[in-house]
Amino acid sequence: MNAATITTNTFQVSRGGTPVIGSVSYISLSHVAIFQPSVPLALNTVYAVTLITGIQTATGTPLSANVTWTFTTTSGIPVLADGMNIYYGDLHNHTSYSDGMGLPVDAFATARANGLDFFALTDHSQLLTDPEWQDTLNRADAATVDNAFVGLRGFEYTNLKGHVNVLDTATYVSHTDPNYDTFEKFYPWIGSQATAIGIFNHPIKTPLRDWNFNDWAFNAQATSRISLRGTPPYPANQYLLSLSTGWYLGAMGSADEHEIEWGRYRFMGIIAPQLTRTAVLDALRARRTFSIDDWRFGLAMRANGYWMGAIIPPASTISFTIVVVNQDPKALLTTLMLYDNGVLVSMVAPFTTDALYTWTPTIQGTPGHFYYVKAYHDNDIASPAAYTSPVWMADTTSFNHYLPMIQNNSVP
Ligand SMILES: [Zn+2]
Ligand SMILES: [Zn+2]
Repeated sequence: MNAATITTNTFQVSRGGTPVIGSVSYISLSHVAIFQPSVPLALNTVYAVTLITGIQTATGTPLSANVTWTFTTTSGIPVLADGMNIYYGDLHNHTSYSDGMGLPVDAFATARANGLDFFALTDHSQLLTDPEWQDTLNRADAATVDNAFVGLRGFEYTNLKGHVNVLDTATYVSHTDPNYDTFEKFYPWIGSQATAIGIFNHPIKTPLRDWNFNDWAFNAQATSRISLRGTPPYPANQYLLSLSTGWYLGAMGSADEHEIEWGRYRFMGIIAPQLTRTAVLDALRARRTFSIDDWRFGLAMRANGYWMGAIIPPASTISFTIVVVNQDPKALLTTLMLYDNGVLVSMVAPFTTDALYTWTPTIQGTPGHFYYVKAYHDNDIASPAAYTSPVWMADTTSFNHYLPMIQNNSVP
């Protein structure tokens, strides 16, 4: 588009025929136009948007007719127990600082304009320079506005045996450095980074792509820092495998965006009390996460009062509260399945389009087991599953080891 033709004269927002005052900008690289109102829009109110024929393509072809649509503002996502909210984001994205497109300034602006609440850039570390690493942080900081958007900086450690994203560290390391060219060398490094959050990316094991971290070989030094694991579109069996080998990993998905559609799709959400950088990072460390596959869909689970992601004290029974938030009135929540160490132990088939659905199964508890919920949703695409992070019922050893994490997640 010809950016000079996209202005407050040609991109108009109104309420009951009265123009809304604001400013208009256009991100040329990702073809996103943004209207920023001068004051927040009113709740539960219908607004109209009109694009005027003065808008032109880069080669001067005008819009053939005005385009108008309406939208209704809402008060946002329902508040869950303990004043918690659901926020949506993406923690795996690239720019031209490695093998993607554009610059961090474009990526953060586009992700926010596309409606994400938080967004991380994670360029491949072997292609990063120090000035690029610094610029990524500067842009993440500049993009962060409390209770509106959180920008994060990370990097992708790209080992032959699998890729790990790392957030919230001062430095970056690469597999091309002989000091970090194997997981045996990388794991102690990430274990020594006081605030690091590690994410096992796109696990898969095929003759072409052997990316499941040496069959999820457990590492005691890394386990306190690597706390999440990406799921779709890679094989779901890797989810169970990763949990069966002793890692405590929360569920998330990501776009792994290498082009210009940063934030266009939704693959994960978090449960957090507010939208600040600290609150987002705390939620990731506590594994209060769920994975989705581009649904307007939230999935939250508590077990004996603890949020998903927690290691819970031993008990003979577990009472779950599973809440599904459905923001797409045309999409049907079909099935919820509860798994104990990967074995289906309870399910329900609500077939509902309700905005809020709650399921409260109670099952037997077994120390040392993990529990998660898988959900199916019948929308236009091929109905893949959504996952909660697990809760783990502690045995004595792990309960002591993870006591601080339990307290973070404690709600009773
Ligand atoms: Zn990768
Ligand atoms: Zn990547």
